[in-house]
Amino acid sequence: MANLDIELITPSLRPQYQAMLDRNPGQTEFHQAVHEVLISLEPLVGKKPEYTDLAILDRVIEPERQIMFRVPWADDAGNVHVNRGFRIEFNSALGPYKGGLRFHPSVNLSIIKFLGFEQIFKNALTGLPIGGGKGGSDFDPKGRSDAEIMRFCQSFMTELQRHIGPDTDVPAGDIGVGGREIGYLFGQYKRIRNRFDAGVLTGKGLTWGGSQVRTEATGYGLVFFAQEMLAAAGTSFEGRTCVVSGSGNVAIYAIEKLQQLGAKVLACSDSSGYVVDENGIDVALLKDVKEVRRGRIADYAAERSSARVVTDGSIWDVPCDVALPCATQNELHQDDARTLVKNGVILVAEGANMPTTPEAIDVLQGAGVLYAPGKASNAGGVATSALEMQQNSGRTSWTFDVAEKRLHEIMVDIHRQCLDTAAEYGKPGDYVAGANLAGFIKVADAMVAHGLI
Ligand code: GLU
Repeated sequence: MANLDIELITPSLRPQYQAMLDRNPGQTEFHQAVHEVLISLEPLVGKKPEYTDLAILDRVIEPERQIMFRVPWADDAGNVHVNRGFRIEFNSALGPYKGGLRFHPSVNLSIIKFLGFEQIFKNALTGLPIGGGKGGSDFDPKGRSDAEIMRFCQSFMTELQRHIGPDTDVPAGDIGVGGREIGYLFGQYKRIRNRFDAGVLTGKGLTWGGSQVRTEATGYGLVFFAQEMLAAAGTSFEGRTCVVSGSGNVAIYAIEKLQQLGAKVLACSDSSGYVVDENGIDVALLKDVKEVRRGRIADYAAERSSARVVTDGSIWDVPCDVALPCATQNELHQDDARTLVKNGVILVAEGANMPTTPEAIDVLQGAGVLYAPGKASNAGGVATSALEMQQNSGRTSWTFDVAEKRLHEIMVDIHRQCLDTAAEYGKPGDYVAGANLAGFIKVADAMVAHGLI
């Protein structure tokens, strides 16, 4: 478990941290996300009296609304299951609540709250008018038939639909929720509400309101961000070796873009292990195994003579120049960070949300490795969701090139905001401080303008 020492937080912000701990016992992932942001806010202390007067921090760490509900459904054999559904409507200072839905057995209130909290600042960094939210369920989609997934999505939406809307709260995908699930969720929403509210969900299919590049956006955006980090350090992806953990939506499209930029991706993973492919990962095969067949990483290796599967140890043992954790929270630990540094890694950028533990971040930053937190580097997904909302509002759709160009501009802009804000507050080159400060200030200033609500 992460070391969340209160002493690392500047003294005047400790009461808020303590109050959050007391109010949310046992929510360790949420504690971790708040701890990181509070450490970063130290340079603001004494500079913004209006934040203190209006209790901005106390209000930012308390969600505006927390929804939990029962999700009953029947499997193909007629057995009844009961899952729990969540939607945390965290902050609407900048726009409608926006954030994905995660279907995974590990989901609980702490995980959804950490994700929702990070989403507030990530969404602010995009510069687009979206607030922060997150939802999901402890439903395990693994091994479930299409019909079971559909019935689960329908039951989940039967309750969720009363809380969401294009100007209220706009869910999308996350782990376990992709195009198929968004389709079933949208269908049920449309049926119950009798409205084709295209903008109520993002990540839709291209013929019914989806945006070009949304599928690719998180992975592509991550690589665009990392490209800017390398450029700022006077180098590029050309000829670089990379390791990308995960093999879901984020990992697949990060690998694709890395290869387009001349890098070689040596390894990727799933929960059963990792593959090392000396010839570089074959993205077309990976897509087929993971997205079409919904198979395991071993199925990939079985069809590639240059690849081997490793089922023990860590993917971070594979030497590389660039490491992109794109699987899940707290997947890159202190020992992994030490191994990466020993093997000469120059850049770590997060495609997943909070994949690097605080101790691992310390190791990377201490060794001078370029390190980007997910709330900056993986913001391309939600940014393109906001572009999807724009297209839905205008009842129009853009070409792939137009959407990709907008995504690229947004990632360049987020990178610039991180570096400029970090420098302005005396933390040059610190992407964590830059992202947290820049995102927080935007949200806090809007909250000040809105008064005590
Ligand atoms: N789940 C993604 C994230 O973590 C995307 C959210 C969205 O598009 O609303 O940012």
